[in-house]
Amino acid sequence: MRYWAWFAAKLAVTVAGVGALVAWVSRLFPPENDPLAPLNDGASFLLCDLALLLCFLLFAGALYLNIRDQRYRCRVCLRRLRMPVETGSWSSILQFGRPRMEYICPYGHGTLREDELHISGLSAAEWTANSDDIWAELCAPGKDSDRD
Ligand SMILES: [Zn+2]
Repeated sequence: MRYWAWFAAKLAVTVAGVGALVAWVSRLFPPENDPLAPLNDGASFLLCDLALLLCFLLFAGALYLNIRDQRYRCRVCLRRLRMPVETGSWSSILQFGRPRMEYICPYGHGTLREDELHISGLSAAEWTANSDDIWAELCAPGKDSDRD
C-alpha cells in the first residue's frame, strides 16, 4: 500500500509540474480570435506547437523516470535496491540457469530478480519478500538434512 501511495504521489507531482508548464505555455501563446484569419501569425502557431511537443516529451521522460525509479525500490521500506548481483550464465544457460540480475534491499526486506534474457518481450521483475525471522531462513537447510 505504501509502495503504491509513493508511486501515486510521484505521478501527482509530475502531472502537476507538467500541467503548470502547459498552463504557462498556454498563457504565452493566447488563442487567435480573428475568424477570418485563424492562422494569421503562423510562426507563433508553430512555436506553440513546438512548446507543446517539448512539454509532451518532458512528461513522457518524467513518466519513464518515475516508473524506472519505482521498479528499483523496496516494496516495504521504499529505499533504493542495491548490490546488483549477476546470476546465471549466457554461455551455460542449461547448467547455471538464465542470466538474471538480483537486487536486494539494504535492510533485508526482499530481493528483486529480473531476467536479462527477454525472448518474448519485457518480462516483469520478480519480487521475493524475505521473512522477518532471519534464523528461520538460516536454519531451514539444516532442518531438511535432519529429516533424512
Ligand atoms: Zn526494504
